Amino acid sequence: MRMEDKVVAITGASSGIGEATARVLAARGAKVVIGARRTERLAALASELEGKGGRVAFRALDVTRREDVRAFVDFAGERFGRLDVLVSNAGLMPLSPIAQLKVDEWERMVDVNLKGVLFGIAAALPGFQRQGSGQFVHVTSVADRVVVPTAAVYSGTKFAVRAISEGLRQEVGRSIRVTLVAPGATESELALSISDPELRRLAIEQYRQDLLPAEAIARAIAFAIDQPADVDVNELVVRPTAQGY
Ligand code: NDP
Repeated sequence: MRMEDKVVAITGASSGIGEATARVLAARGAKVVIGARRTERLAALASELEGKGGRVAFRALDVTRREDVRAFVDFAGERFGRLDVLVSNAGLMPLSPIAQLKVDEWERMVDVNLKGVLFGIAAALPGFQRQGSGQFVHVTSVADRVVVPTAAVYSGTKFAVRAISEGLRQEVGRSIRVTLVAPGATESELALSISDPELRRLAIEQYRQDLLPAEAIARAIAFAIDQPADVDVNELVVRPTAQGY
């Protein structure tokens, strides 16, 4: 199936990697369905891409709400007749030392980074099984394999998504593709979710200096989607060349 025939739904497409992925895929001819909570950003992106000839639909989406995720997936079918790829990208990274006990932020990360992906699987898998094809692209992080102080819970959610993706691949992989894309430090609004001002400053000024453009991750996602149906790119780890960890 050519890229122009594919319908790709992207969660968390109002900024950063999700937005860049919508741009790259729309430019390559895919029909793109974008979701996030900030609908004014989605509307602006959709109208910009449509102005360039892209085929784009958007819908408000909160991935912590199971019914919302189901409605988002159904919406792709209503607008474009089918869904071929679900890019579960929505995420947040409020880093903090565990001893600060920021339990609300832990819960939020579990809800968005982990349960949001599970709700995506639950929403899209039956349709993929019915049509005998489909692809899950899960955007994790290098933190799905590397743990550093302040990132324990964030890493925990990403390790979990990596484990679930591998299990999913083993169970449904004969006809359905499962791809993990694990970015290193990438330009986006992600560090703004760090609530501790000093930690946020450190993250932005020290650890987030050599950044990939979000488009680099979008190109990796497009590469995995654009392979023939019998080729499943299982994992892509993409770091800035200068990133050590
Ligand atoms: P951004 O903060 O720029 O984007 C995060 C996106 O997630 C936004 O579109 C936001 O939209 C969306 N989002 C957050 N909460 C929800 C929710 N409850 N429901 C729906 N959408 C939601 O950061 P990135 O682009 O960097 O993040 C994208 C993914 O990349 C994340 O999973 C992140 O963990 C991962 N990643 C990023 C790295 C980086 O250095 N940037 C490195 C490694 C991984 P809205 O607020 O409008 O709902």
